Amino acid sequence: MPHISSAFIPAAAHATYLCRIAAYTAVAIALGWFSYFIWSKEWDLAVSLIILAFVTLPCWVMAMRGLFFRSLLIAQITCLLFVGFFCYRYDVSNQLFQRSTHLYIPTIALVGYISYQQTKSKFQIFIILISLVLFILFSSNVHFLSMDNSTVRHFQMVSSWINPLLSTLLFVGVIVAMHTDFSKRKKSVKAIQNALYNDQFILLYQPVVNLKGRVTGAEALIRWNHPSSGLISPVTFIPDAQQAGMMPMIGEWVIAQAFNDLLRWQENAETRHLTVSINITTDHFMQPDFVRKLLQQAQVKNIPCRQVRLELTESVFISEPHIVAAKMDELAAAGFTFALDDFGTGFSALSTLRKLPLNQIKIDRSFVTGASTNTKGVVIARNIARMGTELGLEVVAEGIETPYQWSIMKEYGCTVFQGFLFSRPVSVADFILFVSSHSHHDTEYSASGYLSHR
Ligand code: C2E
Ligand code: MG
Ligand code: MG
Repeated sequence: MPHISSAFIPAAAHATYLCRIAAYTAVAIALGWFSYFIWSKEWDLAVSLIILAFVTLPCWVMAMRGLFFRSLLIAQITCLLFVGFFCYRYDVSNQLFQRSTHLYIPTIALVGYISYQQTKSKFQIFIILISLVLFILFSSNVHFLSMDNSTVRHFQMVSSWINPLLSTLLFVGVIVAMHTDFSKRKKSVKAIQNALYNDQFILLYQPVVNLKGRVTGAEALIRWNHPSSGLISPVTFIPDAQQAGMMPMIGEWVIAQAFNDLLRWQENAETRHLTVSINITTDHFMQPDFVRKLLQQAQVKNIPCRQVRLELTESVFISEPHIVAAKMDELAAAGFTFALDDFGTGFSALSTLRKLPLNQIKIDRSFVTGASTNTKGVVIARNIARMGTELGLEVVAEGIETPYQWSIMKEYGCTVFQGFLFSRPVSVADFILFVSSHSHHDTEYSASGYLSHR
């Protein structure tokens, strides 16, 4: 099987790259000014830059740990506070020079806008608005934003022409980068559309097993079989497809394909009883005609709906829970069952979950890993599993990689399991082979994969 490639560059990765360049440029400008302040012996200004460097240090650490957009938000606030303080305390318009440090503020707001495109946050909008208000106030030289307007500072000789030049270059740079980002986004969406029309998507199946290790079904997992890059993981392309509103279309393809494969399983005595789990994104589920189309397709193809499990994530319950409940009820009446995927990563209120026709919760892999590595993880995993069983639901442990993880998740009350210990996601043909080779015996598994039959 070809390896998972990263040649397709998702838009989020590109936006991160742009913001990183903006951050490095800001550091370069700050270093330039620091050298100048040292050279001109303006010690108070040099010290203020050292303080800024120390305050932004945690942002770099956060960015390295993957919390890129949160660290960017903190860096924006810090820079805004610094520019504001600098404009108030040192860079005050006087009889010789106009204030110029505030000219960097529009760039801070623009970087905020790029960040907002990736992670929508009301707080980011607030910061952008504050930035714009500050820019207007500092430009208009209102009295209360200047500490003292009689002292002419030495650095103003240089800053009065260097700051307009650098801030304009920086601003133009960010605009050009935004334009490039827009074209990249269009390209990636076009590539995903092509993939759909040229049949480049495939479905793999990962076996789902019971307490004895016997296969009870499989989860359908999409891959993009890119002509030059090999298999591309859904975590790489789904965010772009989602942003472009293409997930309902891709989801329909997944459902049609999974239905066809389920019909193929019906032809074989060993696979006839198996359940197929299909991941459904929130925007797809919330389409007004989702239920109608699904029921129609199931009827036309004569699908045994009881063997179809729809996997939803907690995000689906956040807005319009009544509509979600009504849709789930209608599908449940037709026989479809429901699993709540990645349970524990969201904030589902138990009271909401109780009212829904859910059959399964799937404990996210991160909790399974946590349970086998630290005591805090044990408590969390045990409590999540207990919560599920107390709600009367079947509890699935995802991402089981070792016999030890399997045994502890059994101990916590999980009855269904999925993970590399049993099998990685495989093609439909390999899945059928896997089932027939495991259907006549109880199976032992080792960390290196399937071990022996008994
Ligand atoms: P998910 O639904 O939680 O699927 C489980 C993911 O965990 C799969 O990643 C699977 O390959 C991986 N996994 C299973 N066992 C193990 C293990 O033991 N160790 C490790 N390291 N990983 C394991 P995959 O296939 O890359 O899918 C990632 C996510 O993409 C899925 O998470 C699901 O949210 C989404 N996805 C995949 N296929 C589809 C699809 O057809 N439609 C939609 N809407 N989303 C999909
Ligand atoms: Mg899933
Ligand atoms: Mg999951």
